[in-house]
Amino acid sequence: MIEPLIKEHFPNAKTGAEITETYLNFISGEYGSEMDKILFATSLCCDDINVSTDFRRVLTRPFTLGGLGGLPYAGITGVVAFAHHVPDGGDAFIFYGPHIGITDDGVLGEMRRPGQQHLTNSCGALVLALERLNSGRPVLPEQYELDAQQLMLERSLSPLKEAGSKDIQIKDAVNFTYYNVRTRLLMLIKAARSEFKCNRIFLLGGIIINTSPEFHDYVDIRDFEVLDPKKIEDPEIISILESKAFKAL
Ligand SMILES: [Zn+2]
Repeated sequence: MIEPLIKEHFPNAKTGAEITETYLNFISGEYGSEMDKILFATSLCCDDINVSTDFRRVLTRPFTLGGLGGLPYAGITGVVAFAHHVPDGGDAFIFYGPHIGITDDGVLGEMRRPGQQHLTNSCGALVLALERLNSGRPVLPEQYELDAQQLMLERSLSPLKEAGSKDIQIKDAVNFTYYNVRTRLLMLIKAARSEFKCNRIFLLGGIIINTSPEFHDYVDIRDFEVLDPKKIEDPEIISILESKAFKAL
């Protein structure tokens, strides 16, 4: 059984199926949201393994805000466009966070993927970022055009390196990346708040734990909140939001 190995590291983790059922029942039961009027967005790593997380089976057509490591690279433009696409009378739902693999022996940062016998890294982008940060060999800025997300991910982890001289471990990196994804997403929503015509933005954040194909994936939920865009205070007014093209994204 994989569950005890997962719970050693993430005691509150539950299967993706359980999480999906719990939260979708909650928002339809408690808040009366109509499932066919919810626009779903994700800020998750683009790794194909995350498609198997059960939310995607229920809420199709997600707006993709994330990229390598799960950071919301789509930025203000992406969040404004998402805000404009929410069905009339509907709600917005954003599921966000990084991911980490676990082997059948309980090793974090690696996994056995569908159709493969060997292990690969998960999250591969985070593992690469750590390798470079720990060795003190960051990517050269001239690679920016060809590897922009990876560079931004590595830059986002640098406070961890500055905080201590020891090598950063993958579990610390995934926890810190959760914080980075969350704070950036909240900043973006705050900046774009006037563009949401809906009354509710459901935000569900956690760390996805990828397992071998014969097991469920797990999710360690860290935060769930419901925001009313009209009540988000202290927005930093971003002037580009006033341009015509932004209004029609
Ligand atoms: Zn990844």
